[in-house]
Amino acid sequence: MIPYGRQTISEEDIQAVVDILRSDYLTQGPTVPAFEKAVSRYCGSKYAVAVNSATSALHISCLVLGVKPGDIVWTSPITFVASANCALYCGATVDFVDIDPRTYNISLDLLTSKLEKAKRDGNLPKVVIPVHLAGQPCDMMGIHALSKQYGFKIIEDASHAIGGKYRGEPIGNCHYSNITVFSFHPVKIITTGEGGMAMTNDAKIANQLTRLRSHGITRVPQEMTHLPDGPWYYQQIELGFNYRMTDFQAALGLSQLHRIDEFVTKRHAIAKRYNELLSDLWVTTPWQHPDSYSGMHLYIIRLKRAEINFSHKELFERLRSNAILVNLHYIPIYRHPYFESKGFNRKDFPEAEAYYAEAMTLPIYPTLTEEEQIEVVERLKSPIGHQNLF
Ligand SMILES: *Cc1c(COP(=O)(O)O)cnc(C)c1O
Repeated sequence: MIPYGRQTISEEDIQAVVDILRSDYLTQGPTVPAFEKAVSRYCGSKYAVAVNSATSALHISCLVLGVKPGDIVWTSPITFVASANCALYCGATVDFVDIDPRTYNISLDLLTSKLEKAKRDGNLPKVVIPVHLAGQPCDMMGIHALSKQYGFKIIEDASHAIGGKYRGEPIGNCHYSNITVFSFHPVKIITTGEGGMAMTNDAKIANQLTRLRSHGITRVPQEMTHLPDGPWYYQQIELGFNYRMTDFQAALGLSQLHRIDEFVTKRHAIAKRYNELLSDLWVTTPWQHPDSYSGMHLYIIRLKRAEINFSHKELFERLRSNAILVNLHYIPIYRHPYFESKGFNRKDFPEAEAYYAEAMTLPIYPTLTEEEQIEVVERLKSPIGHQNLF
């Protein structure tokens, strides 16, 4: 079986986790702050707040940026549902901006025209969540300029993109956003099992994120309504959650972080090899913007449907029946029944619809071998009721 993605765990990673299991703190010890500091240093952000998933990070990021009932949040339709659900958790409504046909990220032109219309109609978004699909960064300078013009805030959903660069600088430095969120789910670039992190350069945002991940509780006297009743004292000053990461997860993350550049380099080598192996086939290989260095979380091809006489679905079935677990990232969010019932119209997202009819994620992860890659490509090429390829 060849999955589309999987973790790479070393003996050092295992030892790092075991060391924590033998230590005094399984959670709320020194390793979470050490991991936060290391990721923050790696990405060039001032602050980092580790949580138990990227979904949690997106949720409390929306809350900190003031998303509440009556507000509107925009994101891409081609992303995991978590990028949209975070707005709904806050009681806001969500809307989508169609994708760019080359990068499959949110389209800057369509974002611009949608903002112009929203301004006229009086329904501008409070927050826009650009998603760096497959690890390729969005046009952040453009989105940032629009945020100044139209007054919205930005959360980068960089769940695919840690280890990547935008205009030569690490993704996660938040130069063009208020908050950047990473995921450490096992299929992502580095893992903590489950886990996520919110990066920011704003001390107030970092402080509130930290409070919200632990019930809205503060132990800082200056934040309290009156002086502490005694040394035991703390106050809950807002409604938060238990979104904390454990120390053994942070130890795994810290250990994985040592190899992040090696992981991303390997992913790029695999992508390059796919590009060569697929060069004369009926597929479009992933286009890379010259200003960016992708985290290369996913390798997404698109079928040139006019050149083939079998369907997208047949090809998926063929590969999957041969234990090659190709995938489709993603079903456009508005197609899910939960979202469909909110009245979205597929006709409003022609690029996302075309993408959904043609996209396929091929296996990519650091330990994928050359032989396995050749097998994937051979299986892809093998005929499904068409002879002209051989
Ligand atoms: C994986 C992913 C998430 C959610 O990450 P979790 O850590 O599993 O909560 C959110 N957005 C995108 C784009 C993702 O790929």
